[in-house]
Amino acid sequence: MVRVRFAPSPTGNLHIGTCRTALFNWIFSKKNNGKCILRIEDTDRERSDPQFEENIDNGLEWLGLLADEGPGVPGVVGPYRQSERIDEGVYTRYIDLLLKSGAAYYCFETPEELEQERQESIDNGVAYVYSRKSLKLTHDQIQQKLERKEPYTIRFKIDRSSVAFDDIIRGRIDFDTSLLSDFIILKSDGSPSYNFAVVVDDIEMKITHVIRGEDHISNTPRQILLFHALAQPIPEFAHMPMILGPDKSKLSKRHGATAITDYQEAGFMKEAFLNYLCLLGWTPPNGEEVLDMNTIIEKFELSHMNKAGAVFDIQKLTWMNGQYIRKLNPQELVDRLLPYVSDEILAELNKWSSEDQKRMMVTVQDNLDRLTDINQHLTVYVESEQDFLNLSLKESLNDDQRMILHESLVQAPLLESVDLTKENFSNWVAAIHKEIGGPKGKIFKALRLGVTGRHSGPNLHECLQIFGLEMCQNRIQKTLNNHNAE
Ligand code: GLU
Repeated sequence: MVRVRFAPSPTGNLHIGTCRTALFNWIFSKKNNGKCILRIEDTDRERSDPQFEENIDNGLEWLGLLADEGPGVPGVVGPYRQSERIDEGVYTRYIDLLLKSGAAYYCFETPEELEQERQESIDNGVAYVYSRKSLKLTHDQIQQKLERKEPYTIRFKIDRSSVAFDDIIRGRIDFDTSLLSDFIILKSDGSPSYNFAVVVDDIEMKITHVIRGEDHISNTPRQILLFHALAQPIPEFAHMPMILGPDKSKLSKRHGATAITDYQEAGFMKEAFLNYLCLLGWTPPNGEEVLDMNTIIEKFELSHMNKAGAVFDIQKLTWMNGQYIRKLNPQELVDRLLPYVSDEILAELNKWSSEDQKRMMVTVQDNLDRLTDINQHLTVYVESEQDFLNLSLKESLNDDQRMILHESLVQAPLLESVDLTKENFSNWVAAIHKEIGGPKGKIFKALRLGVTGRHSGPNLHECLQIFGLEMCQNRIQKTLNNHNAE
């Protein structure tokens, strides 16, 4: 049974990098009918904050990346918060095992003494490796120090000169461990170090695959050594490429919004966002990029992920979002857009029937790249007559346009009905055209200007249909008056 984990540290909001890690773990678990576990790595008590954990939860919930086990979804191998695992004595049990087998040892040097060691190495021009002074202490000496309550850390004894593993994405990786210091697994405040806690939890949570960012690769040899020392099976590792900003440096705050919830607020659809995140490190086999999640799960292969860094391109994400917006049916469109409509626009919008509101939104669907764009595009429907007049006054009207608008008023009463159906609208345009001649495009442009005071906007026929013939005539008349008075 495949078991993967997403193990964020709540020391910041859920950002693009950690979110992508969650996503690929989730996809891999779904693909393999496995389980995806959420583990909160909050051993750094000073930097961890429940507010960040909440932000992580909100981001995952928005995207639907729900864990099969985690702090909010009890499972048999919990608790799923490292701070709670400390309290339950999980890590000290493993520390005892390692101390007993001689794979770990007490270290009593003070930070000042260690700093002095380090300085000496620097002065001698050699790479610093911990001297293992404490390893030479006798059993009695250790007992005395413990009785005197001298502060200590526990270090792991590195007894190999190399470690190798086969990374699913990067292939064979060899590490020279001869220059690694025996590393601390229990800090002087009694809390486990990152590398140690991860290994203990991966063992206890029966993790089969560790899928994480390339920035963790240097931790892997230490973790493998710990698995060996605890005589436990070693999970498979897959280190995903880094995510880069447009300037090819590691993606950071200065490249824009960081919290995933910011993207939600900015009007990105979760489906588009997830689809785009999948392209950060993975190329779908047939090159087609807009794919729904079921297809992604079907086509995804961890071993086919790229090794090279992936550039996060907000323009491409925005383009993809537009593609997803265009795919929505009218009711879905309304449901997605309504939460983004400002109170001001909503107050005006509510003066129209819900059917008209839906039609308005459909007329601007193709112009939306983000759901938040709706406000600017709905203005044409909800602005006051005064705002329309002011806008119309700013635009000049040439003689041709004046003639077209004038003719449109002459022809309007001759139409069969005031309902501007497609046919009725075509008849109107044809009647104007018959009198004026020239390209029809000119007529469309003049009508748009006369009715909306704008040169561009929603689909013209649908827009005018929503306004209704009477209102169109009214506005055309006002436009002509406005410009005659100039
Ligand atoms: N807590 C670590 C982080 O947030 C992840 C540890 C891991 O995946 O092994 O970067």
